[in-house]
Amino acid sequence: MSIAALGDDVYGEDPTVNALEEKTAAMLGKEAGLFVASGTMGNLTGILSQATRGDEVITGVDTHAFRAEGGGYAVLGGVVAKMLQTDYLGRMNLEAIEAAVNPNDPHYARSRLIALENSYGAKAGAPIDETYFANVRSIANRHGMSIHLDGARLFNAAVSLAVDPKKISRYADTVTICLSKGLCAPVGSVLCGTVDTINEARRIRKVLGGGMRQAGILAAAGIVALDSMIGRLEEDHFNARQLAQGLAEITDLEIDLSTVNTNMVFFKLIDRYPRSADDIVSELSSRFNVLVGSRGKKSFRAVTHYWVGESEVAMLLRSLHKALN
Ligand SMILES: *Cc1c(COP(=O)(O)O)cnc(C)c1O
Repeated sequence: MSIAALGDDVYGEDPTVNALEEKTAAMLGKEAGLFVASGTMGNLTGILSQATRGDEVITGVDTHAFRAEGGGYAVLGGVVAKMLQTDYLGRMNLEAIEAAVNPNDPHYARSRLIALENSYGAKAGAPIDETYFANVRSIANRHGMSIHLDGARLFNAAVSLAVDPKKISRYADTVTICLSKGLCAPVGSVLCGTVDTINEARRIRKVLGGGMRQAGILAAAGIVALDSMIGRLEEDHFNARQLAQGLAEITDLEIDLSTVNTNMVFFKLIDRYPRSADDIVSELSSRFNVLVGSRGKKSFRAVTHYWVGESEVAMLLRSLHKALN
């Protein structure tokens, strides 16, 4: 970051940002890329570059973009969401997608876009294989619709499935990847798509106040992330499995080991355990300096990454043993 060549990215003149955008686009098999401040901005620019007021997006009810981004595409773009239930991996039923497409009739919003996510955060970071994307692509093609893929954790999915990420991204018109989740860069995401769509997204990024000047200082870390952090994601997945196996041996906890396929581990307290997850989370933090997320009354989410390896996994297991007894 300290030696990155810089320029004014609002004029397209930051060589480091340009290099990051080209590199990401090449990795995902797309024509062009756009460096954005966050995953949220990636989804917003991706969706709004392809859908506008009165258009409808078909999406899983528990996607990050619908559920956890302040309703951004509705708030800022007037785009309506039609939410469908998802299965244990985060897939919508294909017939339900087809049935959700509106006829061309003034009563209805225009069905413009299908918004997908991989890996699927709400389903324990489940990796979804390319077959689903190929199937959704044929539905989109039949109805002249586009596909946006929230790939904030796409590399985790690709590593877990042992496929080139292009095998999945090829079915989407726009794809975002996040540099600051498992890939560990401090800031940023990249949206990729055709030159035309990315030009439109660049305009929207400007409107959102996301045009950053000497952004190469951030993009430099993004290039390091792409070069050196994807190859080690398997370690995070391995550590997550080790953690899950340790948790399965703790009597007051329940975990479905089949759900642990990337770096996220969802687990819960057994029903008759008297204390709440929040209570345990604060004890883990105050007594052992271990941070775990709670989700609802009885459930937890733990995530492994570059800074949480084998010894931290062991530390969490030891601390949980003590906190639960
Ligand atoms: C984190 C995340 C986002 C949002 O990224 P931010 O950088 O926090 O805005 C979007 N989608 C998924 C699947 C994520 O995990």
